[in-house]
Amino acid sequence: MFPAEFDYERAASVSEALALLDEHADADVEILAGGHSLVPAMKNRGREPDVVVDLDVPALDAVNALDDRTVVGALTTYATLVDSGAVRSTVPLVAEAASEVGDTQIRNRGTIGGNLAAAHPGADLPAAVLASDATILLRNRDGKREVGATDFFRGDGETAVERGELLTGVRVPHADDGGFAYARKTHPATGYAMVGVAAVVETGGGGGGDDGSEGVVSSARVAATGAVDRAVRLPSVEDSLVDEPLDAATIDAAASEATDDIDTGRLRSDAHASGEFRGELLETYVGRALETAADRAAGDTPTA
Ligand SMILES: Cc1cc2nc3c(=O)[nH]c(=O)nc-3n(C[C@H](O)[C@H](O)[C@H](O)COP(=O)(O)OP(=O)(O)OC[C@H]3O[C@@H](n4cnc5c(N)ncnc54)[C@H](O)[C@@H]3O)c2cc1C
Repeated sequence: MFPAEFDYERAASVSEALALLDEHADADVEILAGGHSLVPAMKNRGREPDVVVDLDVPALDAVNALDDRTVVGALTTYATLVDSGAVRSTVPLVAEAASEVGDTQIRNRGTIGGNLAAAHPGADLPAAVLASDATILLRNRDGKREVGATDFFRGDGETAVERGELLTGVRVPHADDGGFAYARKTHPATGYAMVGVAAVVETGGGGGGDDGSEGVVSSARVAATGAVDRAVRLPSVEDSLVDEPLDAATIDAAASEATDDIDTGRLRSDAHASGEFRGELLETYVGRALETAADRAAGDTPTA
C-alpha cells in the first residue's frame, strides 16, 4: 500500500530539525530516521502524518567514548554499534543487543534513536539501555532535557519524548568489572524478540579474592523486553543477586523471580505466544543472560 499524502521536509542540522518541529507545531509530524518502523507504518496507514522531517544530520551519527561514559548519537545505526570498536570495548551490551536486531538491511539503516523513540514492546535496544542505566538526551527549541532510561518507556509506542522534542542521543555509563549479556528468544517469522533479557552484573573483589569478595555481586541491573507493553527492569531479580556469589544456585534463584515484578495479567499475549508462555520464556532467558554474564565475569566467554 502507498502512504497517505504528506509534506516532506529535510533537516541537515539539529537546529534545522528543531526549527521545523517548531514551525509545524500544530501539525502531526513524524521524524524519519532509518525509516524501518515509520515507513511500514505509513504504508499500512497505521501512521498518516501531515509532515515528515527527514533527519540528515551527520553530527547525530557519532560515537564519543569518554573515560566513564559513551555518548551515542541518535542516528547511529545498529551496524555502527556492532562494528564500532569504541562501542564494543566500552558499552559491549549495546553492541550485543544491536547485533540481534532484524537482519543486515535493518541493521544498516535502523538507528538507536529511532528504536528507542518507536518503543516497540519487543525492541532490543530498550532492554540494553535500561540494563546499562543509560540516560536519553532530548532537545527542543528552548533547550536540553535528560531522562533516565527507567523513566523513558511509558508503553507500546509511548515514551517521554514530548511534542517538538528531538531525541539527540544516549549517554551510557561504563560498567565496573563483572559481566554482561543480552539473550533473546527470536520469533522465527518476524525476527523480533518474543522475550529478550539484558543483564549487567558487577562483581566485587576481583584481584584474587583475598577479602573473600571475588565473584560476589556488588550490583546488578536486569531488564526485559517483549514480556509486557514496554521494556522494564526486574528489581526482584536484581535484588536476589546482590551480595551473593555469581554461581549456578544464585542464578537459578534469581531467574525464579523473573515474573515477580510483573502483573501476570500484563504479560503480552498474541498470535505468537500466550502470556503464560512469555512468562516461562522470561524465566528461561533471565537464566541464560545471567549464565553468560557470569561466564564473562569469570573470563570464560569472549565479550562482544
Ligand atoms: C522486518 C523488520 C524487522 C525488525 N526487527 C527488529 C528487531 O529484531 N529488533 C528491534 O529492536 N527492531 C526491529 N525492527 C525495527 C527496527 O529496528 C527500526 O529500525 C526501529 O524500530 C526504528 O528505528 P528507525 O531508525 O528505523 O526509525 P524510524 O522508523 O525512522 O522512526 C521510528 C519512530 O521514531 C521517531 N523518531 C525517530 N528518530 C527520532 C529522534 N531522533 N527523535 C525523536 N523521534 C524519533 C519517528 O518519528 C517514528 O515515530 C525491525 C523492523 C523491520 C521492518
